[in-house]
Amino acid sequence: MQFIDLKAQQKRIHARLMENISTVLTHGQYILGPEIKELEKRLGDYTGVRHAVSCASGTDALLMALMAYGVGPGDAVFTTPFTFVATAEVISLLGATPVFVDIESDTFNMDPGCLEQAITALKESDPELYPLPGGYMTLTAKGVIPVDLFGQCADYGRINTIAKEHGLFVIEDAAQSFGAEYDGAKACSLAHVAATSFFPAKPLGCYGDGGMVFTDDDELAVRLDSIRVHGKGSDKYDNIRIGINGRCDTLQAAVLLAKFEIFPEEISLRQEAALRYETLLGSIGGLACPVVRPGNLSAWAQYSVLCTKRDLVLDALKEAKIPTAVYYPKPLHVQGAYAYLGYAADDFPVSMQSASEIFSLPMHPYLAEQDQAMIADVIRKAYK
Ligand SMILES: *Cc1c(COP(=O)(O)O)cnc(C)c1O
Repeated sequence: MQFIDLKAQQKRIHARLMENISTVLTHGQYILGPEIKELEKRLGDYTGVRHAVSCASGTDALLMALMAYGVGPGDAVFTTPFTFVATAEVISLLGATPVFVDIESDTFNMDPGCLEQAITALKESDPELYPLPGGYMTLTAKGVIPVDLFGQCADYGRINTIAKEHGLFVIEDAAQSFGAEYDGAKACSLAHVAATSFFPAKPLGCYGDGGMVFTDDDELAVRLDSIRVHGKGSDKYDNIRIGINGRCDTLQAAVLLAKFEIFPEEISLRQEAALRYETLLGSIGGLACPVVRPGNLSAWAQYSVLCTKRDLVLDALKEAKIPTAVYYPKPLHVQGAYAYLGYAADDFPVSMQSASEIFSLPMHPYLAEQDQAMIADVIRKAYK
């Protein structure tokens, strides 16, 4: 059994993949070839966003978005400590400071109430109101990066309202949520800017690294396009700002175009697999299945459950050769890399509690019903 079965997917689209790759080898435009424009057009149309700027990874997508806003030293960007490190890393890379905000205990996404408290605490320079990082007295609130964890969109209705009240930009970290929906709108269209990832294990993955930035803001799109190619101006030897080498490979775009043809169907197949898990696992006491909020459609990047006897259950699953993973065992505020922020472990109790109970089961569009039944059996027996 695979945790994410990329081979079953490849089998379905093998001929189209070969054709698309071969086309690139023939035209030889390996950098920013025609497939890049085509992919940007298709994914822009799919998400309903005017500008889609492909790039080298999800991390670069986040970095480019922050750079487009001119984020730098002295700026505070609010995000959660219960995410992949890249979300906070890009803030630190630019010399800005991540200000952590705890999560909701059922969706694992940013808690809008905590966001409001953290913004107020920072503006009033009062860590009694909400935990703040060291050096908070000199920080200016600039933006928010909510994360659509495990494929479910964060609460943008409330987060965008709070951000607007305080004059903050919002960057949607949609690395795990491409294909998800929130009140009928697609992930990547829910904030000023969105960043997604095409890392192979993400809902829409390529065969290497890749990412995309989405925005309806024309000026921001021009800046993103420039930042992606070393801050180019009228041409690449005219440099008008500091940028990066953030381009997506044409070959990866060719792979993504083949995969995207079956992507909407795969999103439906993921819903079916998730429903089956819910039916099979829902009645096991001590195990909490994922909660999807009304109006949300998850892309099911991961199927993550909370389990009071995690070690016991993980051992039983390992014994039965069922692959599992723990996302995330250690929240960012207790990681060595973020010790410099000076947070205490219990500053974000929901993140800590989630990290101690969570684990993820195999999840992909081709997950067989009998495999899921077997997984449920192993878990049920482990509890006895
Ligand atoms: C994967 C991921 C990223 C980074 O994407 P890469 O393509 O691996 O650079 C950022 N944020 C979250 C939440 C992710 O899961």
